[in-house]
Amino acid sequence: MSQTLKAVRGTRDLLPPETALWNRIEAIARDVFARYNFGEIRTPVFEDTALFARSVGEDTDIVSKEMYTWEDRARAQSEKTQSLTLRPENTAGVVRAYIEHGLGESGQLQKLYYIGPQFRRERPQKGRYRQFAQIGAEVIGPPSTGSESPLRDAEILEMLATLLDELGITGWTLELNSVGSAADRARYNDALRAALVAVVGQMCADCQRRAVTNPLRVLDCKVPADQPIIATLPVIADSLDEASQAHFAAVTAALDAAGVPYTLNHRLVRGLDYYTRTTFEFTHGGLGAQNALLGGGRYDGLSEAMGGPKAPGIGFAMGEDRLVLTLQALETAQPQTVADAFVAPLGESLNPAALALARELRHAGLRVELGEGSFRLKRSFEAADKIARRIVILGEDELQSGILTVKTFSTGIQTKVPRAELAAFLAGPAKG
Ligand code: ATP
Ligand code: MG
Repeated sequence: MSQTLKAVRGTRDLLPPETALWNRIEAIARDVFARYNFGEIRTPVFEDTALFARSVGEDTDIVSKEMYTWEDRARAQSEKTQSLTLRPENTAGVVRAYIEHGLGESGQLQKLYYIGPQFRRERPQKGRYRQFAQIGAEVIGPPSTGSESPLRDAEILEMLATLLDELGITGWTLELNSVGSAADRARYNDALRAALVAVVGQMCADCQRRAVTNPLRVLDCKVPADQPIIATLPVIADSLDEASQAHFAAVTAALDAAGVPYTLNHRLVRGLDYYTRTTFEFTHGGLGAQNALLGGGRYDGLSEAMGGPKAPGIGFAMGEDRLVLTLQALETAQPQTVADAFVAPLGESLNPAALALARELRHAGLRVELGEGSFRLKRSFEAADKIARRIVILGEDELQSGILTVKTFSTGIQTKVPRAELAAFLAGPAKG
């Protein structure tokens, strides 16, 4: 017997009615993005592996162990084999596109959002999948566009607060930090390295490696036993120069003015190499261990690191799977949507007429389920009762007279309705 095939570990099928929630989230996100004057960008799902190695950073978990990478065979002599990777995140692709299309040359600040799947070979658990979806945005442009301004940081954070509120996600926390400039970070890395000498021997193997390669990453460690040690390490705020301090103070002043609440988290350094200055994370208690709804920050050096022009920027990526989980936990998720009517043909010969009637009602904007004439009436009623508010019976008499029989399930009332009034009747309250 052949083995049944299943969705690959860490991937899953999204089915109705849950997909309605996904669509609602995406519709609200698109609406908010439009009001903040963002446009949509869609980049390829796979890219040259070198793109992620260069932008995300070789030493990150993402690049070192989570990427889906393969050697793509040449199909013709003119083609070379190429190392390709399913995108683990979307900022790299957006910035590549920004450089490739010379978007900075317009002299306009680029405000781009994306919604789509990302891929990471992680240990699957609740809120953590190997294919997951992110909703994200980037604000990027040459310095002349004001792309470095702390107002851009504050505006993005205020937009996120608005988006989460409009999604109905109550009780989020915004954690904020500044990782300063590259020079600030170099100073801080030295301070960390010095402080780690005495304690790193008691830490996890990853931290022992990080202490050598990139001490900043020690702060990202999730091993519980390491946490008390990490709490004793120096904080980056003490390594920021005056310009970085002033930038961060301007971000928080604008947030205060707009009434967006936040808490400072000195440990928030993000997992990626290109972040400068502002870093942030929105978390939610309803998520359990995987509590990050979204993360983001400023990446003033990324474009240049990728061989592009100077183009400071700031962005975020939000885990759509985690938005869904949060809304489900908050029980604000919509109940299963119910059809307005179930059209039940009485006998197979009435199937074509039933299709025509269903078409008429659907064109009038109603949500309609079309039954099957070979079903006995009892079976049609049972099917209709599960998925629709009303059943419309279409027999030979109804077809000839143009007067349809409608039963409303919530009241049990049966009504005769002329065909011309049917759509209006079905759109009315189910109590009628
Ligand atoms: P985490 O600490 O949870 O691993 P991260 O630092 O890897 O998050 P980012 O790379 O900043 O996360 O991605 C932004 C957001 O994308 C996260 O806050 C989270 O909501 C979501 N996300 C990241 N990885 C996954 C995953 N494997 N499955 C589902 N959502 C994810
Ligand atoms: Mg991760």
